[in-house]
Amino acid sequence: MTPPVVYEAVIGLEVHAQLLTRSKIFSGSSTEFGAPPNTHVDPVCLGLPGVLPVLNRAAVDCALRLALATGCTVRRRTRFARKHYFYPDLPKGYQISQYEEPIAEHGAVDFEVGGQARRGRLRRIHLEEDAGKNVHRGTTSLVDFNRAGVPLVEIVSEPDLRSADEAAGFMRTLRQLVRWLGICDGNLEEGSLRCDANVSLRPRGRAEYGVKTELKNINSFKFVRDAVAHEIARQEAVLRDGAAVVAETRLWDADRGRSAAMRSKEEAHDYRYFPEPDLPPLVIDEAWLAAAQGQLPDLPSARCARFVADYGLPPGDAATLTAERDLSDYFEAAACAHGDGRTVAHWVLGEVLRALKRTGAAATAAPVGPLQLAGLCDLVRDGTISGKIAKEVFAHMVTTGRGAGAVVAELGLARLSDPAALEAACRAAVAGNPRQVAQYRAGKTKVLGFFVGEVMKATRGQADPAVVNDILRRLLDAP
Ligand code: ADP
Ligand code: MG
Repeated sequence: MTPPVVYEAVIGLEVHAQLLTRSKIFSGSSTEFGAPPNTHVDPVCLGLPGVLPVLNRAAVDCALRLALATGCTVRRRTRFARKHYFYPDLPKGYQISQYEEPIAEHGAVDFEVGGQARRGRLRRIHLEEDAGKNVHRGTTSLVDFNRAGVPLVEIVSEPDLRSADEAAGFMRTLRQLVRWLGICDGNLEEGSLRCDANVSLRPRGRAEYGVKTELKNINSFKFVRDAVAHEIARQEAVLRDGAAVVAETRLWDADRGRSAAMRSKEEAHDYRYFPEPDLPPLVIDEAWLAAAQGQLPDLPSARCARFVADYGLPPGDAATLTAERDLSDYFEAAACAHGDGRTVAHWVLGEVLRALKRTGAAATAAPVGPLQLAGLCDLVRDGTISGKIAKEVFAHMVTTGRGAGAVVAELGLARLSDPAALEAACRAAVAGNPRQVAQYRAGKTKVLGFFVGEVMKATRGQADPAVVNDILRRLLDAP
């Protein structure tokens, strides 16, 4: 008997990212999301006759930043192309895109799945305009052109991904990167980052790829994983049945947890691509490229590795701190000011993240700023307050917006380390607990801890335990 065939999944993603420019890619109206329908429109994005598109340089800057961050080769002279299709949300009857001359090619996105390093090579990144949006209400369909002409980059991966988890991991890392670069807000629900997943199976060990299907309409990480996993299982069932996978576009239905065939696969020639005659070739000269390179921030992976090396952070903590650029900036500002990165990391990953979550504030507008946090850590280090009191101080800093020193002074929370001031509390603890005194004096010296606890309670945790220890010993050891 021959063993059953083992199938391997092959996945390639096509990701669209809306660029964070203020105006549209070929005209001046706003790209703002959520405005009343058809209020951000102009003759160019409405496809009115007799108007000409003008390329928005800021969109090119965004694409260049992503190209450089993913190690792509930048094409120095590119032409736009018309991609023809009919849809009510595409008033010109064609989309201005890039076809044979994408702005960038041959990069890669490195990501991790279950602690394993993976690489998804990029085939190309190209610039294009978004379409409008059809809105269906009962039997009426309306079109909102606010989104028409919003700049996009399309990022096309090689078919390098091998599982649903890898597809989700690639997408997550890409989202982190576009947000880090400040070129896209990465909001999947609002559609500013969307992906189509191409999926095929082949018998493990075979070099040729199998027939693929394309899944559309994926707008969350969960859906990336679910939709791809579902499609892998569906194709495997088809193949085991002895049937063939049909090349088609399928629509993911998240509510039902399944996909349905939407249309048969279109071919490039169906779009009748031709060079866009209304736009001159885009030339990216040395100076432009150098400026883009100069504006590139250090990348999340590099910063994460640096946090491990410079501050001695565990890799997992460093990864959390570099998930967002603003948070990593916050951490680094506080760590530099205080000096001990591990202490600061502990605070940021705990109290600070909790406070951000609770207040809904961004790291750039945190209720306790990085320098204030460093001030608080300083007070713990120099013994002014205990770690426990520090949490109380932090909570007051959040609500009052005041610095650590001011809160400690105002609430009288400084550590009590003057022996004269602690003597009375220690004497009271001894006088009030004759049974424990007898135990101690009978040789059970462990009960010292009990007395220390009593004094700490009486001083609301502010007493310096070392000083309290000394005084108690003196009182208890006295004959
Ligand atoms: P098409 O011409 O059918 O649109 P492309 O070659 O342009 O296909 O590739 C589109 C996307 O599909 C890319 O992300 C690519 O990696 C992916 N892809 C191509 N072939 C396969 C395959 N056999 N299985 C899975 N993904 C594939
Ligand atoms: Mg294609």
